[in-house]
Amino acid sequence: MQNKAAPPDPAHDELAKADHAHLWHPFTPMSLWLEQEPLVIARAEGQELIDENGRRYLDGVSSLWCNVHGHNRPEINEAITRQLKHVAHTTLLGLTHRPAIELAKRLAHISPPKLTRVFYSDAGATAVEAALKMALQYWQMAGLKGKTRFGSLADAYHGDTLGAVGVGYSHLFHHFFEAVLPDTLRLTPPHLLRWRNGMTHTEALERAITDADRIITGESKHLAAIIVEPLMQGAAGMWPHPPAYLRALRDITTRENVLLICDEVATGFGRTGTMFASQQAGISPDLMCLAKGITGGYLPLAATLTTDPIYEAFLGMPQDGKTFFHGHTYTGNPLACVAALTSLDLFESDQTLKHLDSIIPSLQQKLEAKIAPLNHVADVRQQGLMVGIELAADTKNRKAYPAHDRMGAKVGIEARNRGVIVRPLGDVVVLMPPLSIQENELIELVSVTRDAILATTEAR
Ligand code: PMP
Repeated sequence: MQNKAAPPDPAHDELAKADHAHLWHPFTPMSLWLEQEPLVIARAEGQELIDENGRRYLDGVSSLWCNVHGHNRPEINEAITRQLKHVAHTTLLGLTHRPAIELAKRLAHISPPKLTRVFYSDAGATAVEAALKMALQYWQMAGLKGKTRFGSLADAYHGDTLGAVGVGYSHLFHHFFEAVLPDTLRLTPPHLLRWRNGMTHTEALERAITDADRIITGESKHLAAIIVEPLMQGAAGMWPHPPAYLRALRDITTRENVLLICDEVATGFGRTGTMFASQQAGISPDLMCLAKGITGGYLPLAATLTTDPIYEAFLGMPQDGKTFFHGHTYTGNPLACVAALTSLDLFESDQTLKHLDSIIPSLQQKLEAKIAPLNHVADVRQQGLMVGIELAADTKNRKAYPAHDRMGAKVGIEARNRGVIVRPLGDVVVLMPPLSIQENELIELVSVTRDAILATTEAR
């Protein structure tokens, strides 16, 4: 990585002070933040972020898991600029516009077969909220008034609005809100049975499916939907499950008249190697949530897709009371929609999925050779270009480091000092580069991660 630092800009100090004086950062222990010099990103190009001093960093987490084709792509820049000259924002409440229409048509075309209807919003969490409310209203209108409960996987993460928090659960993130959260049914995914009960892959899969079948069947009268992050539970610490588990959930929910929501906010748009993760299981959910990579990582946009039967249940005159009274001011913003349309064009012109066919195995080889053998790496979990590297004090007995050692965070700092941005989830170091990452950058990503892990764990 070329890392020529320009002389410090006198304005930088002012910026840093103003950040400390006025900004409250998401998911950030602010006291710690205030002790550090903030890294101020000024520009970006390709897979690199560039700070105020001109120093370059490989974007190892795709700017929070959303960048797809690299930063500052002229094609997306130009599409947004062109659209700006037409209209920057107009509402979808009572009006419509070309980019939203064209994007809805293309999303329906590339999505699993039964998903034909697109409802826009602005973030992953809002896509999930819309899906949950659609499911609830659908069953209420169908006269099955008892179907008001949701089911999800243990340690699921679906976003930070209250409805999404209700179906996800992370003690650290959410315990203050417990009192107002609904009683969600929790299914135990295969990996937990492997780690907690020492089962083999096959035993864990079989047990997870048998348990899901029993629990869903027993509660189906009350269940509106099961929501799942297909193939990889991201924020839980990058925990994969086999396609067979997803297929089983689809079969059980279909049989038991329970809707299946696939939250593809993180896994969608090529992240796991196919356009959508659910396609690897050959299933079509009743509702699918998209965000993050939908605009190539350029602008906030989200979509909740659903099927004809669900959409049609909401048809009727105002007096029939079937309207879906839900929406946001910037829903379906035209600039975001043209970014999304151009991102889909780039999937074709860059042959992004074909590029992944070589880059994913190459990453796997490098992780096996350089990361897995390290003394304090307990596990390396990969699903496409989603990777979790679990650190442990004692890998044999899987003994974690004390939380206050903040080993994951320290690896992040060591990596940043070496020109790579990675952001951990606790002691799981996450690698999630833009899909456009090139072989030489992959080598750098893995070797810097290795050096950062060694510097952190061996120094302790
Ligand atoms: N669902 C999943 C699976 C996610 O990974 C995330 C974000 N990491 C969300 C929902 C929430 O998305 P957002 O941050 O855009 O609200």
